Amino acid sequence: MSRHQRTILIADFELPRGAVPIEQLMDMPRAGWGHLRSQINVRRREDRSKPLARCRICEGGVFIRVQATRDGHIPMYAHYPEADRQCPWYEGNNLRPDDTRAAQYQGHQESALHRRLCSTIEQLVKADPRCTHTAVNTYLRPEIHKRGRWPDVYADLSDVGRFALEVQLSKPFAPEIAARHVHYDSEGVALVWIFNSLEDPMPQGFHDVVAMQRGNAFVFDDETEAVSIERGTLVLKCFLEDGLGGWRVPRMIGLDELQTGAGRSAFVEDCRSEALKQRCKQHRSRWWDAMKKAGKERPNSPEYSEHHEDGWADMKAAVPGLWQWERDFWTERSHRARAHTAVLYAILCSIAHSAEAGRPILHVTKFSGDSAVLSMLNSKLSGADFKHCASLIETFVRATALSDLLEKPSLKRIIAEAQATDTQVKEDHPLWRAMARLFPEVLDGLVRAELDDLGQLPCWASPSPKEPIADLAAAQ
Ligand SMILES: [Zn+2]
Repeated sequence: MSRHQRTILIADFELPRGAVPIEQLMDMPRAGWGHLRSQINVRRREDRSKPLARCRICEGGVFIRVQATRDGHIPMYAHYPEADRQCPWYEGNNLRPDDTRAAQYQGHQESALHRRLCSTIEQLVKADPRCTHTAVNTYLRPEIHKRGRWPDVYADLSDVGRFALEVQLSKPFAPEIAARHVHYDSEGVALVWIFNSLEDPMPQGFHDVVAMQRGNAFVFDDETEAVSIERGTLVLKCFLEDGLGGWRVPRMIGLDELQTGAGRSAFVEDCRSEALKQRCKQHRSRWWDAMKKAGKERPNSPEYSEHHEDGWADMKAAVPGLWQWERDFWTERSHRARAHTAVLYAILCSIAHSAEAGRPILHVTKFSGDSAVLSMLNSKLSGADFKHCASLIETFVRATALSDLLEKPSLKRIIAEAQATDTQVKEDHPLWRAMARLFPEVLDGLVRAELDDLGQLPCWASPSPKEPIADLAAAQ
């Protein structure tokens, strides 16, 4: 095997992400691996000694390198340059980031176009009466500055905010993007990347910027220059992702239309979080519809309704091993896996809906009153059917607003008994994976972490805050 074909086959991410094999990485939508790539770079910037992802074999830090191919960009893992070259997965002599940066940046620094754009942009912001201070090229960023980086425009627009406007003509380099975001975030300055045009296809560096800006791209060109002069303030063309791999029709925006309170990035509209949240609900909605129809059709045993067939067939096509498990389940229990899964879905759905509403909403069993969720869990987990799901349900509850239910002695005891008497479904079990596909906010570590990074974890999927006094009492 030639050296350049070597690659890292599994990277271990900090929990809750966990292990991400290369196949899984390559299967992810761009937004998914793009986010991971950004977070790895941000961590590298914040603390080099604690990489977010490590090579399974040598435990050295790894980052996501992007390979441009005829079919688009492909994400690959790569060791950082300080990695152990003896690692069997070491890629060989890949370019060290610093060399790459030097090669890319050379020649651009003195770019006449870049200088002109920076000074034009500065003059346009200055024309805004709210502007109290501007600077080109001299804003203090000691560490980054030392490395000889491109100039930018700094603008203080009093109440509107303080802005660092980075004019980016050539593709930016990922570690630099992360470095600047971390730096400006700590300074309370909103960083806005400004392109002169949008290339098609866009180089990865531009995708990295768009990922940081949550699916927004800002362009300053001849047209915006004319509009800016007319309006007496800086105007940018804002491109928003359309969710289909393209852009919506761009619109002209001023700096006062940017949302800057979300940390690390400025954007007009968060296109990423919404799409991610939609993706989370996508598979669940079909099961929800089936459960409602089934409940009407056969109120006493909705799980056996044929309405579940479509969702189940789709699930078997998507989750490896589910076919096999269905067969084994029949052999062991003389019971239909489809019906069993429909009940498990109803249990988890009851937990999620109750967590969201702040009061019990059950889709299975007939308990009522304030402690209905607890009664339902106690009853389901003490019966033989769902003992094997005790760890799964425990994990689920722990990640929701109902997490303090796990402190209840009755449930604690029942879960412990179930775990002691029945082999537990674990994270790599097809049933667990099937539920993770329906409730990724809770059971898919990657999705959960991304939502968390974006501050977009839904309330129902956030654990209830712990009372320190109660904790103390419990510990005694
Ligand atoms: Zn390694």
